[in-house]
Amino acid sequence: MLEVVNLTARYGRAQILNGVTLTLAQHEVVALLGRNGAGKTTTMKCIMGLVEKKAGEIRYDGRSLMKLPPHMICRVGLGYVPEERRIFPDLTVEENLEVGRRPPRADAPEWTEDHLFELFPNLAERRRNLGKQLSGGEQQMLTIARTLMGNPRAVLLDEPSEGIAPVIVEQMAKVITELKNEGLSVLLSEQNLHFARAVSDRAIIIEKGALRFEGSFAELDDRPEISQQYLAV
Ligand code: ATP
Repeated sequence: MLEVVNLTARYGRAQILNGVTLTLAQHEVVALLGRNGAGKTTTMKCIMGLVEKKAGEIRYDGRSLMKLPPHMICRVGLGYVPEERRIFPDLTVEENLEVGRRPPRADAPEWTEDHLFELFPNLAERRRNLGKQLSGGEQQMLTIARTLMGNPRAVLLDEPSEGIAPVIVEQMAKVITELKNEGLSVLLSEQNLHFARAVSDRAIIIEKGALRFEGSFAELDDRPEISQQYLAV
């Protein structure tokens, strides 16, 4: 289980997070919602050890991640898919996946290429194509697939539906549901409330780097003023 407690973070002098608290249990999909600039990406970067000036506490299975470098944080079982697609444009789909391969873990499902190609049929068809020949949505899928090759227990997905075609967004929803069925947990940063609702167990809303709402989507529906105030609906 991932626990973030009263997390604060700065870039230079600018205070970006002002006390973010959240939990992510195993087998759970939690949506981290908020407008542009609310601090979703910064929260994820802090969890992955990519922001230096941070305070508060981040624990995974009781162990503090606050002082660990990013490669050690990957090793405890956290995978990160950043917003910008990080594929190798001149490697094939298969080669991109190979780059992500890490040894299997006792506490997480082991992903093979065959299993991933079942989950991402588009990538299977294009396995010998170069990364740069894929559409934006396919590149996003490839980034997720490559992260899964690291056999994570939990995955942080930063706005996976951003800027991709509706048909691929639908496939993305299936993928996230399948990850949950496989026993992974997913922290999903989103601005697309419709997509987040379709795949997540509950929602967390942040604004100006602070928690504004935590609860089920039913509770969020009961309080429309929250969505109006803090989300772009
Ligand atoms: P988006 O949907 O735009 O990614 P977000 O909720 O993920 O939004 P963040 O990317 O975490 O928000 O940004 C939070 C704030 O931090 C914004 O005001 C942004 O301008 C600022 N910020 C982000 N990265 C840096 C940086 N490297 N240096 C200084 N300020 C930054």
